[in-house]
Amino acid sequence: MRVTEASLEALSERLARETPVDVLRFVHRTFGRRAAILTSMQRAGTWLCRLADRAGLDFDVLFVDTGVLHEETRRTRDELARAHTNLRVITLSPARTFAAQTAEEGLLYLSVEGQERCCELRKAAPLHAQRGRYDALVSALRQGEGGARSKVRPVGLDLVMGALRVHPLAHVTNAELNRALAEDPGVVVNPLHAMGFRTIGCFPCTTPVLPDEPERAGRWRHLASVQYCGINPVDRGAAEGAIELDDR
Ligand code: SF4
Repeated sequence: MRVTEASLEALSERLARETPVDVLRFVHRTFGRRAAILTSMQRAGTWLCRLADRAGLDFDVLFVDTGVLHEETRRTRDELARAHTNLRVITLSPARTFAAQTAEEGLLYLSVEGQERCCELRKAAPLHAQRGRYDALVSALRQGEGGARSKVRPVGLDLVMGALRVHPLAHVTNAELNRALAEDPGVVVNPLHAMGFRTIGCFPCTTPVLPDEPERAGRWRHLASVQYCGINPVDRGAAEGAIELDDR
C-alpha cells in the first residue's frame, strides 16, 4: 500500500476526534508488533506510556540514550520499565561514546552546524538504524509546544523511517495534560520537571525555563536560533514523498 501525506488527511481528521487511548488502540490493532512508542522520558511521553500500559497494549517503547542525558532521565526509563509491565522498553545508543566523538570531532554542540551533526549522530542515527522494523511510531508531540510543533497532526509520514508517525496528543492542551497527570498517580514523571525543566534532552543543551518562557526555551539556549534534534519529521518541515506499507 502506497501512502502519501494527502492520503492521510482523512485518517488525521478521524483520529483528531478520538481520545489518546483510542488512538493507541487503533495503532495497536492495525500494526501490532510493528508499532512502537518513541519517547525521551518527558511527561507527555511517560503519560502516553501509562495510557498504553493501563489499556493492556504491549508496545515496544524506544528510548534513545545519547550518552549525555541527566541521570534522572535514565532512572525514569528504569522506573517506567518496572512500573509498566505490558511495555518493552528498548534503549537505542549511538555508535561512539560522547568522549570518543569529542576527541575526534570536538564539542559539536557549541555551534549550529555542529549541533545538527551531533544530534544526527547521537539521536537520529540510532533511531534510523531501526528502519524496516516498524510501520508506525507513536510519540507525544503536541501543538501546544509551539514552534514547528504547532502544526503537528495526529498522523504524518516519516520518509526516512518508511513509517507512519502517530501523535495521539496532537490536540491535547497544556491544561489537559496537567489535569491528566494530577489525576493519575500511576504516571511515571521525570524528576527534572520538578526542577524547572519543561522539556527533557541532553544535559549540555537543556536548561530549566522561567514560568513566563515558552516551553522549549530551555533547548539549545546557547545557540542563537531555534533548533530541533531532527528526530521528528514535523520539526524538519514539509517534505514531499510516499512510503510503502504491507497491505493489512
Ligand atoms: Fe549533541 Fe546537544 Fe544534540 Fe545532545 S542535544 S545530541 S549533546 S547537540
